[in-house]
Amino acid sequence: MYEGVVQDLIDELGRLPGVGPKSAQRIAFHLLQADPADVQRLAHVLTEVKTRVRFCEVCGNVAEEARCRVCRDPRRDVSVICVVEESKDVVAIERTREFRGRYHVLGGAISPMEGVGPDDLRMRELLSRLSDGEVQEVILATDPNLEGEATATYLARLLRPMGLRVTRLASGLPVGGDLEYADEVTLGRAFAGRRSLDA
Ligand SMILES: [Zn+2]
Repeated sequence: MYEGVVQDLIDELGRLPGVGPKSAQRIAFHLLQADPADVQRLAHVLTEVKTRVRFCEVCGNVAEEARCRVCRDPRRDVSVICVVEESKDVVAIERTREFRGRYHVLGGAISPMEGVGPDDLRMRELLSRLSDGEVQEVILATDPNLEGEATATYLARLLRPMGLRVTRLASGLPVGGDLEYADEVTLGRAFAGRRSLDA
């Protein structure tokens, strides 16, 4: 245990995902020794991100305006929606340049272990987006792991009766992993070779 504010910093850092007690201590001491201007910049961006960034009212992606960059772009194909778990997946897919439609960010995946059910995800918002008849295909691009597959299966069952083309990314993605870790070529191929789930 350290004195007062140093321990507070270590505790706060330790609450971040993927940061264990040792890393928290290392980062804290790095900050203590860093140039005050650098720390100032970090503190500034931390407050800025909370005041400026919000979630797109259409797709749930991170945005600095009411709508995200993709939803604001009139060149995007409105007939296709790609469903992903997190905003970081949007970034990964954008990098492939294979997809010209729009996204829907669920905010996670179904996980009974972690107590996450369909109602905790932005599924109702997805259904209301599909009600205007503009969308013809929904690509389920949830992670190729247990939770991602369960979520895709659930959504496919929900969407099939709506008469849409429901597709899932082709295999070839590293099973059990996160979409964001797939390299651009593999992810691009998985997009091009997506298979239909409507049967
Ligand atoms: Zn959006």
